Amino acid sequence: MEKKRKRKQEAKRNEERNAKSVKASQIQTENENLKEPFPSHSGPTPQECLDIRDTLLALHGLPPELAKYRKSQQQTDDTINPDPPETVLDGLVRTILSQNTTESNSNKAFASLKSSFPTWEHVHGAESKELENAIRCGGLAPTKASCIKNLLRCLLEKRGKFCLEYLRDLSVAQIKAELSLFKGIGPKTVACVLMFNLQQDDFPVDTHIFEIAKTIGWVPAVADRNKTYLHLNQRIPNELKFDLNCLLYTHGKFCSKCSSKRGNKQQKKFNDNSCPLLNYYKEPV
Ligand SMILES: [Zn+2]
Repeated sequence: MEKKRKRKQEAKRNEERNAKSVKASQIQTENENLKEPFPSHSGPTPQECLDIRDTLLALHGLPPELAKYRKSQQQTDDTINPDPPETVLDGLVRTILSQNTTESNSNKAFASLKSSFPTWEHVHGAESKELENAIRCGGLAPTKASCIKNLLRCLLEKRGKFCLEYLRDLSVAQIKAELSLFKGIGPKTVACVLMFNLQQDDFPVDTHIFEIAKTIGWVPAVADRNKTYLHLNQRIPNELKFDLNCLLYTHGKFCSKCSSKRGNKQQKKFNDNSCPLLNYYKEPV
């Protein structure tokens, strides 16, 4: 009897030790992820960020469909801004649907989802095939449907309701940790929800922004998308992140001159001054 009790105590101690070491390694990974990958890379400076924000703002203006998510916009009183802000859950699902497709197709998929299912309870209760059919125009329907179903199932289990508004009261690190627990939700999706829906100072890096960042030398040529995200988040002043992100994204959609992917003829392109961003190009040192 005594032996059995001792074994039980020993097992409990082991379990606690394991839990502690898992926690320690999670913290270590989190710290690794926050490291600046290119500490000696000079750009972008705060002044360059400000100049480019002003240049692009004059060129494109802030698109209204993005401007409505701006912090100051959300704080204005209801008479100026009568639409209630998008819920965090709607924003997250909208972002999941935007993965690997065009803006127009992902908007169509989100609209189709909302018109096919009046509430999240209906989505949760629907057959996977029904959900796939509703979002098919956004591409990768089986993957996205299973991600959405899993998210709703986990939310119901953990929180008892289909709601992510509690994230508004958490720190950025806590929000990242919470959202990363859901299968299929990667760092780029988390960064979008942080910036658009939670009004936090984060700088998601999509294809357009990644290409521009490489072309104008904001990151070294070897940078991958995640390192670009880490570097730019360290370097871009918080108060410029939202505007600069929306403006670079908008610019990237229209301009083929500052994308290293399209054309791949950088030398030739830099003789062409029709894109204002190319004036900011600095030869790597
Ligand atoms: Zn350009």
